[in-house]
Amino acid sequence: MLCFTAVIPHDTDLLHESAAENQLTRRGIAVVGGELMASKPDVILILSSHAENFSDQYTLFFNTLFSAGAALKKFGVISNAMRPAAVCFLAKLQSFARAHALPLRSVQTTALDVGSAVALRLLKIPDTLPTAVIGSSSARSILDHMETGYSLKDFIQNFPQRVAVIVTGESEHNTDAEPPLATLLARRSVSALIALADRQVRDCVSHPLALCYGLLRGFPLVTRIHADEHNTRSALVTATLFSA
Ligand SMILES: [Zn+2]
Repeated sequence: MLCFTAVIPHDTDLLHESAAENQLTRRGIAVVGGELMASKPDVILILSSHAENFSDQYTLFFNTLFSAGAALKKFGVISNAMRPAAVCFLAKLQSFARAHALPLRSVQTTALDVGSAVALRLLKIPDTLPTAVIGSSSARSILDHMETGYSLKDFIQNFPQRVAVIVTGESEHNTDAEPPLATLLARRSVSALIALADRQVRDCVSHPLALCYGLLRGFPLVTRIHADEHNTRSALVTATLFSA
């Protein structure tokens, strides 16, 4: 069953503990990390758009140990062992996907994508907590992501253990014509999200967030924005969307 859902940014600059900027975001992510652990998850499911990507399929990472690639080595070892709960979660998800003809492709790799690696580190998710990653599809529409998320809802609600879902991603700087991501989240506006995602410059948060919104359909969303900041590249939004 679903126990917790949040959105956090994953800019690697946030890994520099001593950096002065984006303190609000750091504090917001710390709050989310605390809420996440308080929700007592048995499995963490990360939705990321930076994972190995197949244009027409979603990716399900099927491995026994994640570790972050060379680009993140300077931040120390970032790894997460896939303990039995996650293996069980993945095996069941794999057969659910087959039974429902979901375009979910299983991939064996130990490389942790930057979105997932930074989320694990920033949220201080312990190595002992099983983690699974689903990568979004680059070619499928935002609506397709929502429908796939809605299919995943059935699976997660029927899974006997507690599942927390973390969306990782950032939005580009918004023009005046577009409501900022935090406003979209606060309004819980699906149509506005679709409009945002259909822009030519696509954000890395749009597809994972659409998967998540599909998954949350029918749940009482709380949508607490903990931080809404910019750095030189992106808009960083940190928010809790659901807490059981
Ligand atoms: Zn990104």
